[in-house]
Amino acid sequence: MLTLKMDEKVYLCIGKIFFYKIINMLNLIIFGAPGSGKGTQSAFLTEKYNLKHVSTGDILRAEISEGTELGKLAESYMSEGKLVPDEVVIGILNELIKKNKGGNGFIFDGFPRTLAQGEALDEMLKKNDEEISVVVSLEVDDNELIDRLLKRGQISGRSDDNRETIENRLKVYYDQTSPLKEFYRKQGKLNEIMGVGSIESISSSIQAGIDKLND
Ligand code: AMP
Repeated sequence: MLTLKMDEKVYLCIGKIFFYKIINMLNLIIFGAPGSGKGTQSAFLTEKYNLKHVSTGDILRAEISEGTELGKLAESYMSEGKLVPDEVVIGILNELIKKNKGGNGFIFDGFPRTLAQGEALDEMLKKNDEEISVVVSLEVDDNELIDRLLKRGQISGRSDDNRETIENRLKVYYDQTSPLKEFYRKQGKLNEIMGVGSIESISSSIQAGIDKLND
């Protein structure tokens, strides 16, 4: 019996005929309310597991600074703390997944944010014979989230890190995004991690959960 690496995937070869994939990509979702530390932990995970980092917020902000039509549309929602319509973000993700086939995997940061996006992501990955490996949900209480976002606003200058927009974004998170936890819990993929403490200790908890997948 022989193992072959093709297309960045490892296949098991029995005789000359049978090939089947024994190692999939590592596709992570970093999930949580605004301010829960998704971006910070994504940077660590991207480096550690050599993944393609996909942040829909970063993509949309780049469109805004380039002044594209998509950017103008996105800004009208983002400035009020509302979600950009599903068909817009799903379209962006579709292109991105198609272009980045065959790598080690993706880390999805800030996507999906609605059930429709979660279902679309499953479909997009399935087309490439892939799936979500694990969903890491960072749990942080509201007072801490608001505190962090107000502080970030002073440093980053992000226009949506002001009190009114922050409160809206939290409401949107609980109404539209948090139901995704149940969606992934039912799939047996939800891994809830306390998102408070040092950045390193949170990273270690996340890593322990991911490394268990390979045992
Ligand atoms: P983030 O940088 O992830 O906090 O996203 C900033 C803003 O971009 C959000 O408040 C939304 O307005 C918009 N956005 C980012 N990702 C999505 C998404 N998956 N669906 C809809 N809107 C999004």
